[in-house]
Amino acid sequence: MNSKQHTEAINVGILGFGGLGQAAAQILTPKQQMQWVAVADQKGYAYQQDGLNLRECLDCSSNQGSVGHLEGIGALSSTSIRDLIRQHPEVDGYFLALPNLPNTFMASVVKEFMDAGWQGVLVDALKRTSAMEELLGMDEVLKEAGITYLTGCGATPGLLTAAATVAAQSYTEIHEVNITFGVGIANWEAYRATIREDIAHMPGYTVEQAKAMTDEEVAALLEETNGILKLENMEHADDLMLELAGICPRDRVCVGGIVDTRHAEKPLSTNVQVTGRTFEGKISTHTFTLGNETSMAANVCGTAFGYLHAGIDFYRRGWSGIMTAAEVMPKFVH
Ligand code: NAD
Repeated sequence: MNSKQHTEAINVGILGFGGLGQAAAQILTPKQQMQWVAVADQKGYAYQQDGLNLRECLDCSSNQGSVGHLEGIGALSSTSIRDLIRQHPEVDGYFLALPNLPNTFMASVVKEFMDAGWQGVLVDALKRTSAMEELLGMDEVLKEAGITYLTGCGATPGLLTAAATVAAQSYTEIHEVNITFGVGIANWEAYRATIREDIAHMPGYTVEQAKAMTDEEVAALLEETNGILKLENMEHADDLMLELAGICPRDRVCVGGIVDTRHAEKPLSTNVQVTGRTFEGKISTHTFTLGNETSMAANVCGTAFGYLHAGIDFYRRGWSGIMTAAEVMPKFVH
């Protein structure tokens, strides 16, 4: 490992070019420490060694339906992820901004990386506890493959889970971690997978049912609820992450929120409350509240790159395997 390698920008790929993938690319554009070189959507991929152009990628995606149409640097493919990682293995790390539909999809993507013999850093913004459990079970094979994987690196799980871990340090016993999120998006179609996955948390729906819903069916459901999704007691991996980090048993963690799909303003302030007992016997609650002006995309993608940066450090020090966002500090990207 030479020192020059470490001063060069980290070459980053984004898998999935929907709501979060596009926001992630926008966040990377002004960064010095990271360069966006690779992207894949469901129909194709593109790679450019000296950096992809955001405007061209956005235009190509919206006008022609896939980044695979980008002239000279794009390729259309129904196995875009596999093809991208095999054709261009020189990417240092990827943000997986992909839908986790079905619930085992992310694990299957990780297997693609291992099958290709790729080595580097992967981060996801996975939500479901069961999906994360499957990934955590891959620790040994990820170690053998030389992949450093950080999971649950979005907003919740992610930023709020990590904040809860920090907040818990004031206590000797943690009684309750309550995460309440407010999401405001002007148009649900900008975040199709996020909304489908949220619907899968509603009473009477399963992941399979939500995946099978047509866009018209989703629009009809949102019409009935006036664009609002109210979510309670969600199966969110914050519980597993906090348990693994030694904070509290998972049944003391509760996640819920409100998503407004018709207004960009948040319907409520996203916050995490951590209640516990101090060594003096006092019961208290710490509250960490996100600014209302910060969008879901800002809180998810900013955090994901902070963890990708931290993951690169681990990778360079020779550590591979899987850890969650509650076990590691994100590292700011300049
Ligand atoms: P989206 O529907 O807007 O975009 C998904 C993208 O993935 C599209 O570009 C699509 O073409 C691509 N894609 C789908 N299948 C593919 C395949 N097989 N190969 C390659 N590309 C494929 O999704 P989104 O709303 O941006 O959400 C992405 C993920 O982020 C979801 O799983 C969501 O749950 C998660 N999320 C996490 C948090 C958090 O705080 N942890 C918050 C919001 C969203």
